[in-house]
Amino acid sequence: MAAILLDIDGVLHVSGEAIAGAGEAVRALREEGHRLRFVTNNTTRAREPLAAQLRGLGVDVDAEEISTTPLAAARLLAGRRVLALTMADVRADLATGVELVEQGAQAVLVGGADEGDETGRVFTYENLNRAFVSLGEGASLVCLHKNRWWQTSRGPLLDSGAFVAGLEYAAGVEAQIVGKPSRTYFEAALAELGASAAEAVMVGDDVESDVGGAQAAGLRAVLVRTGKFREESLAAAEREPDGVVDSIADVPALVRERGW
Ligand SMILES: [Mg+2]
Repeated sequence: MAAILLDIDGVLHVSGEAIAGAGEAVRALREEGHRLRFVTNNTTRAREPLAAQLRGLGVDVDAEEISTTPLAAARLLAGRRVLALTMADVRADLATGVELVEQGAQAVLVGGADEGDETGRVFTYENLNRAFVSLGEGASLVCLHKNRWWQTSRGPLLDSGAFVAGLEYAAGVEAQIVGKPSRTYFEAALAELGASAAEAVMVGDDVESDVGGAQAAGLRAVLVRTGKFREESLAAAEREPDGVVDSIADVPALVRERGW
């Protein structure tokens, strides 16, 4: 039996619309005895509402089964003063470990962008400049992820990687990435399952963050042709996925066929 890590956005749903067969696939993987963990770079929701959203889409999941980047950031930055450029909804997860401040920060944490109205106010000149000043005063730069764009029902939207890269450029620093593709994020998810990388399979729609990141950490990785999947990204990828399927609905059969 395998330890299976499932990405959420683009794999189980896109902009709140379920991928056909997602609920049945998750149920089948559980029934066949695989251990599941949901590993997301989502930066717009804390894990309780994330779990509720998935259940609403017919995917049976418990909040405790979800790894989120704000929770990982809270562990990484525990006890430190943090200037957080994140969406309001994830501050609940973040606040479990850090002190959120506007000035005198020891770390600047950049979260995600979203099509919702709040984000427009997160990445204002004023907030980005406050982050820049903090970095100049010695704060470290940490980001939940460094994704360039993400897939929504309205098409590709600019993601927060652009703001992270801008701060790196302006302040002459390099950001530490909390979420995928960082090795520590995959390792933390495996630790939750008590699994080794060798017995694990990551399923995602992002050939860099999901597939490349997981394979670099020693996991197998399956790419789904939904969400942000693009043929040209697959063709240009440094690493070849261990499997490519049309959608999550095909994952149980692939896992069976490969004997994972
Ligand atoms: Mg995804």
